[in-house]
Amino acid sequence: MNKSALDLIRIIPDFPKPGITFKDITPLLADAEIFAKCCNEIAEAAKEVDYIAGIEARGFIFAAAVAVISGKGFIPIRKSGKLPGDVISHSYDLEYGSATLEIHAGLIPTGMRVLIVDDVLATGGTALAAVDLIARADLVPSALTFLLEIPQLGGKSRLLKAHPALQIRTILAE
Ligand code: AMP
Repeated sequence: MNKSALDLIRIIPDFPKPGITFKDITPLLADAEIFAKCCNEIAEAAKEVDYIAGIEARGFIFAAAVAVISGKGFIPIRKSGKLPGDVISHSYDLEYGSATLEIHAGLIPTGMRVLIVDDVLATGGTALAAVDLIARADLVPSALTFLLEIPQLGGKSRLLKAHPALQIRTILAE
C-alpha cells in the first residue's frame, strides 16, 4: 500500500481521553479508491478461511466489505448486550477503559476457519478477546488483519505469545 493511504489517517491528540492519540480512519473511508484498495488487500488473507469476523464497530466496516469481496459469510463480534439469543462473552482491559465482547453460540458450523478484522491493533486486548470468542464458539481463529498497528503498545507480541500460530497482518505500515 502506498503512502497516500497513511496520509488519510487523521491523528487526533487526547481523544477520547487525555494521553490517547486517536487514529481517525474516516478520511480514508471517504476516499473511494483507497478504501476499496484497503478492503482488497485485507481480502488477500480471506482466501485461506471460511468466514470473516469483524469487531464492533470500526472492524465491521472493513470485515463486511471483505466478506462480500471474497464471497464468505460475515460474523459480528459485538459489544455486550447487542446480540440476541445465546452468546459467549469475554471481558478485558482497553488502552482506554474496559469492555466486554460477545459472539453468537452455535450459529456457525464447528471447525470453520475465521479471519478476524479490526481497524487498529493497540494493546491487543480486543484482538485477544476476539480470538478467545472464536475459539470458544468451536471455530478456528486462523488469521487477524488490521488496517493499522500502534507498535509501541506491543499488541502483536502479546497476541503471538498467547497464540504463536496466528497469522497477523497489518495493511498500512508506518
Ligand atoms: P486494543 O484492545 O488496545 O488493541 O485496542 C484496539 C481497539 O480499540 C480497536 O477496536 C480500535 O478500534 C480501538 N483503538 C484503540 N486504540 C486506538 C487508537 N489509538 N486510535 C483508534 N482506535 C483505537
